[in-house]
Amino acid sequence: MAVNSRISGLKDRSVAERRALVADGAGVDAAALTALDAGGLTVEQADHMIENVVGTIAIPLGVATNMTVNGRDYLVPMATEEASVVAAASNAARIARVHGGFHASGTGPVMIAQIQLLGAVDPHGARARVLEARQEVLDLANAQDPVLTRLGGGARELTARVLETRDGTQVIVHLHVDVRDAMGANAVNTMAEAVAPVLAERAGARSLLRILSNKADTRLVRARAVFDAELLGGPRVVDDIVSASAFAEADPYRAATHNKGIMNGISAVVLATGNDTRAVEAGCHSHAARDGRYTALSRFEKDRDGNLTGTLEVPMPVGLVGGATRAHPAAQTAIRILGVTSATELAEVIVSVGLAQNLAACRALAAEGIQHGHMRLHARTVAASAGASPRRCGTSRNGSSRTAGSRWSTPARCWSRCGAGTVEHAGPLAARADRGADRDGAGPGARLRGRAA
Ligand code: NAD
Repeated sequence: MAVNSRISGLKDRSVAERRALVADGAGVDAAALTALDAGGLTVEQADHMIENVVGTIAIPLGVATNMTVNGRDYLVPMATEEASVVAAASNAARIARVHGGFHASGTGPVMIAQIQLLGAVDPHGARARVLEARQEVLDLANAQDPVLTRLGGGARELTARVLETRDGTQVIVHLHVDVRDAMGANAVNTMAEAVAPVLAERAGARSLLRILSNKADTRLVRARAVFDAELLGGPRVVDDIVSASAFAEADPYRAATHNKGIMNGISAVVLATGNDTRAVEAGCHSHAARDGRYTALSRFEKDRDGNLTGTLEVPMPVGLVGGATRAHPAAQTAIRILGVTSATELAEVIVSVGLAQNLAACRALAAEGIQHGHMRLHARTVAASAGASPRRCGTSRNGSSRTAGSRWSTPARCWSRCGAGTVEHAGPLAARADRGADRDGAGPGARLRGRAA
């Protein structure tokens, strides 16, 4: 069934209604979404995943709408504790949709395992002897994982270099492995450990570390999209986003925050699908410093029609098998909602969400500033932590509230009015958000603005 990621008014529905709409839109059985209840993981299941388990911690799971990637619609599960991330991604995706959505491509799912060789008396000769053993090493590596090789993956290439370090000269060997639909860390680590003795013997050296590199630059995925100038707010906003992009490209202080905004989207989908957030974050940030200076991962330019083009290229080592992707029931449900059938397709959606998130943040920063939208949504969290109950106040899902007088106001105002909490209780953040909403007449039709970075 073709997915339609346009679900209007999702934010104004109850959780139960949203589940039904998402299940229907994604073509999955609504009952499957009960796996998301209470964090989707029992203590017993958690006890099989890590050590010394004493409980679980739940993170909100939202669904971003409007995403189109390579001509196909996706409803995208996002796990995040940060207000406005899901709304911002959905809004940016809606703007990209007008010009065909996101286009994504990649290098293929190749991961690198490193084998460190120490003590070779002739490091350059050792390197040459290692490379002469290429076929023997690849065959031995592939013998470790018949499942992977049967699926068309496996060790593909061997490279080696001489590395000068403060602890002397070392020979570093890279084993390049096509890991298909796996993230691949365990797969390539097993291979690295198996081939290390052969490499050491050929090099006349001792092997030390044998492990995957998280600088996954042989597993790059890129996304691009055109964002309509008019929907962004006009030509001035386009020019200002280009200037903001140039700032992030030139200045590491800004680049770190710019990239954090990208990771708001990327990490939320990586986490929702049970993938390794640290591996992806290490890969992305190492890629941002690939030329020796930390810079922005994305670029924004103006095209000849005056619209904004955005591009993002990052390593994306995610899988559909292995790790928690199969072990976590909620992750399995998230993957069903997403409807991806390969790790490559999952990676393409994730990078597209990263670009959408980045556009939303840059647009908000270059226009009204991020506090406008962010504080309005964040007020819910602040007020809730002060003991207020959104349900008692009838708070809508976009953070505004309809009260008896049919006037829309922020949660902080509503909570103060219904007595479940006050602006003072919620603190200065809620009070500021409250004032901001008054100024701008935030209501059910108010556009949710992107935030974060
Ligand atoms: P895994 O070993 O659980 O699964 C991979 C295996 O699944 C493959 O080796 C293959 O035998 C099998 N398989 C079945 N169907 C497959 C398919 N369609 N495509 C590919 N393989 C298929 O997991 P993994 O992906 O090798 O490792 C991921 C885990 O390793 C994650 O939990 C990650 O957190 C962890 N890890 C990460 C690091 C790191 O990032 N530095 C280091 C160690 C471990």
